[in-house]
Amino acid sequence: MSDIEKLVIIGSGPAGWTAAIYAARANLDPLVLEGVAKQEGGYVLPGGQLMLTTEVENYPGYPEGVDGPKMMADFKKQAERFDTRVESRDVVKCDFSQRPFVLETKDSGGKEGTVTAHSVVIATGATANWLNLENELRLALSGGGVSACAVCDGALPAFRDQELVVVGGGDTAMEEASYLTKFASMVHVVHRRDEFRASKLMQKRILENPKANVIWDTTVTDVLGDDTITGVRLKNVKTGEERDFPCKGLFLAIGHQPATPFLESCGIELDEKRYLKLTNPPGMETSIEGVFAAGDVADAVYRQAVTAAGMGCQAALDAERWLGAQGIH
Ligand code: NAP
Repeated sequence: MSDIEKLVIIGSGPAGWTAAIYAARANLDPLVLEGVAKQEGGYVLPGGQLMLTTEVENYPGYPEGVDGPKMMADFKKQAERFDTRVESRDVVKCDFSQRPFVLETKDSGGKEGTVTAHSVVIATGATANWLNLENELRLALSGGGVSACAVCDGALPAFRDQELVVVGGGDTAMEEASYLTKFASMVHVVHRRDEFRASKLMQKRILENPKANVIWDTTVTDVLGDDTITGVRLKNVKTGEERDFPCKGLFLAIGHQPATPFLESCGIELDEKRYLKLTNPPGMETSIEGVFAAGDVADAVYRQAVTAAGMGCQAALDAERWLGAQGIH
């Protein structure tokens, strides 16, 4: 048996596992490199952003909702049912200048390795930026009222008719704060400057919303609460004044980083925000023939589990078609 993989899938969120399910059922014998846990500007775990989500209520097929980590375990199990192979290593560098492609890897112990592949699906996702405060991740992981995705978590009962805080001044903050006003008694948008970065139209949705209040020139310096959030400590950056501000939910909307640094020197085309560029939409082709993208790593707009899964399916079908055209079955 050749040690050249037919298809390697990099990443283990909804996009990666869905690509694996489709590829495995098409007899492509896929290898998933699921990555290792690390903290790199944000919190990165195999399984992706859903590992930092408690209850997912908007993924079809789970009428009672499901915990993010449980959902990712289910995806993985389904991929493994069709004999997907899974290895816990990060891809640190890619050589797409030759075929088969060469991927350099590193495992959690720092051990280096190499994988060669006829085709690749990149599904490494994007990481939400966090404030990196002590209580923040703990309460995010425990379902204690801290989240980086209002659309995912905002409708949960714990946030209904409560005072909530959204941090950020971009379009995402406006969109998420506006969404939260449907459930909350009041949404306070905390922004570090005295003007928003968001487009005027998006700003209007907050500035004219009676259930939204803006706290300008202010940063969050601490997250308060043991099992669930009870408030945040705010600091006015102009006066230096600090105060505790009670709230029942904290939503970070301070941007995302696509997981593409490992692609920087391999010649693949990224957009101006460093997301992977799709060169033949709605296909999942990238600028390198035989390399496909799926999920948030190529999507700064929707960033939902269900859209990522859909893209994973598309990428696997595109890879299968491309491999077939190369005579690789
Ligand atoms: P963004 O535009 O980069 O905005 C991030 C916001 O977070 C900025 O206001 C920034 O403050 C603030 N911020 C960053 N780091 C912070 C920190 N450590 N502490 C406190 N505040 C911090 O990100 P985004 O809002 O996620 O948008 C990303 C892209 O998607 C944008 O191009 C946006 O237009 C687009 N988008 C569009 C829509 C839509 O059109 N419907 C919806 C969502 C997103 P400063 O302003 O001071 O830098």
